Amino acid sequence: MINVYQPSLGKEELDRISQVFESNWIGKGKLVSEFEAKYAELLKTDSKHVLSTNCCSEGLFSSMHLCDIKPEDEVVLPTISFVGAANSICANGSKMVLCDVDPRTLNARAEDIEKVITDKTKAILLLHFGGIPCEMDEIMELANSHNIKVIEDCAAGVCSSYKGKALGTFGDMGMWSFDAMKILVCGDGAMLYFKDEEVREKAEKWLYFGLETKSGYENSVAQKWWEFDISCFGHRAIMNDVTAAMALEQFKKLPLFMEKRKVVNDFYDENLKDLSWIDLPPVLPEYVKSSYYFYHIQVKNGKRDELATYLRERGIYTTYRYFPIHRVKGYHAVGNFPNAEFATDNTLCLPIHQSLTSDDLGLIVDTIKEFGKKFC
Ligand SMILES: *Cc1c(COP(=O)(O)O)cnc(C)c1O
Repeated sequence: MINVYQPSLGKEELDRISQVFESNWIGKGKLVSEFEAKYAELLKTDSKHVLSTNCCSEGLFSSMHLCDIKPEDEVVLPTISFVGAANSICANGSKMVLCDVDPRTLNARAEDIEKVITDKTKAILLLHFGGIPCEMDEIMELANSHNIKVIEDCAAGVCSSYKGKALGTFGDMGMWSFDAMKILVCGDGAMLYFKDEEVREKAEKWLYFGLETKSGYENSVAQKWWEFDISCFGHRAIMNDVTAAMALEQFKKLPLFMEKRKVVNDFYDENLKDLSWIDLPPVLPEYVKSSYYFYHIQVKNGKRDELATYLRERGIYTTYRYFPIHRVKGYHAVGNFPNAEFATDNTLCLPIHQSLTSDDLGLIVDTIKEFGKKFC
């Protein structure tokens, strides 16, 4: 089966992990700090604005506390969002207010958000679909004019940028995921960005029990080093040197990963462009850079499901992301979202990852064409 997403891990990661074993310290340590520093560089910021955590979902859940969002507040969420984003708002007891999206990029636009803003809106939890940047100038202007906080779910937007600035660094808080299905992978892990250094300090405590003193070892000068105090009832959500070892090696490979993903993207563009029954992903403005996390086509003749099945029967796995929150019964959400409806029923994400061979790509394109000849 050709996977839709797949990690690229090798000897380099294994060697680095061996070194961690030899060091006898597998917890949060020097490698985590090193990874944070490297990632801050990638974002063109410094370590005072970033903090790692054990997963991006933790970042979503914690954003509610860290951005001071209260149960009586409303949070705007594009209906095409990750399940954890919706859960974090609902678990906080806040009112989740869904908005529609652009039918082609599947990103929320300022006009979509503006329609659902009320005087109770405290924040917008924005998704950059598949690493495609939202129109940040317009969204930030809207958010600033209404005094609304912006939280960016940039989970798959590693290396994405908007007008030369790293995606995820526009709002009050941004986050990237390094889970098994992403581009830079380390099993589980995530990076958080905070516009405000003080919020980062608050986050550091929040993600480690609210402890005022860091650890017994660092506190060893104290007379009774087992005593401690807390500033809040915080979680325990940290990376460790095993996952950081993997992340550091993956980090070095990022430029190569991006190159390969672009090759896959361009191959599909070139070889599918003549199929009149398919819309290719929208052409992006030249001032944005995507991480090419998704390659999402739209099937124009209502045969998306048939195409997905046809491909799967021939060893090619495809999928659709993200199933819209308003159609998930458990949320009891209301509203009309015609663009999201259209996108959900017609969009298909084709395989895209660094290990796809030209044979794989040839087979995928040929099988799509074959389906077209038979049924379209
Ligand atoms: C993967 C993903 C997450 C969650 O990341 P984890 O690190 O697995 O918690 C959040 N948002 C989006 C858009 C994702 O794709």
